[in-house]
Amino acid sequence: MKREQDNEISKEKLEEYSQLLKANQLKITQPRLRVLDSISDKSTAVSQPELEKILGTEIDRVTLYRILASFEEKGILHKVFDLNGTATYALCSTKCSAHHHHDQHVHFICSVCNSVFCLDEISVPKINLPTNFSLHSIAINAVGLCDSCQEKDA
Ligand SMILES: [Zn+2]
Ligand SMILES: [Zn+2]
Ligand SMILES: [Zn+2]
Repeated sequence: MKREQDNEISKEKLEEYSQLLKANQLKITQPRLRVLDSISDKSTAVSQPELEKILGTEIDRVTLYRILASFEEKGILHKVFDLNGTATYALCSTKCSAHHHHDQHVHFICSVCNSVFCLDEISVPKINLPTNFSLHSIAINAVGLCDSCQEKDA
């Protein structure tokens, strides 16, 4: 499970992240690249405390907080609250843009390890609202056992 300490970002990924930052009018900085790399590396959404652990002393807490906030605002990351109410972050679909998120998929949260998964292929249903109500977003969280906790349980 433990990954080698590896601060190298591959050339293709570096190019991909740089494009993403440029497309969102963000300056390409090492901390921003490292945050993108750490998040895209994981199959689950990542919280700020987890990122602090991954990045160690590389990026200070305030900078990390600002990076996450700006990424969310730009439509690069979307926020999902885990079962403890901690914010976790996952990469957005390419359709997201500043102030417009289109990540209308169901999230799965494991009740044992508290991991948050994006179920990109399961979209949230359309709902009919009462007249004069307007919809901004729908969040659906499915809660259960993830595959690795299921294995431990068996
Ligand atoms: Zn989004
Ligand atoms: Zn689990
Ligand atoms: Zn998601």
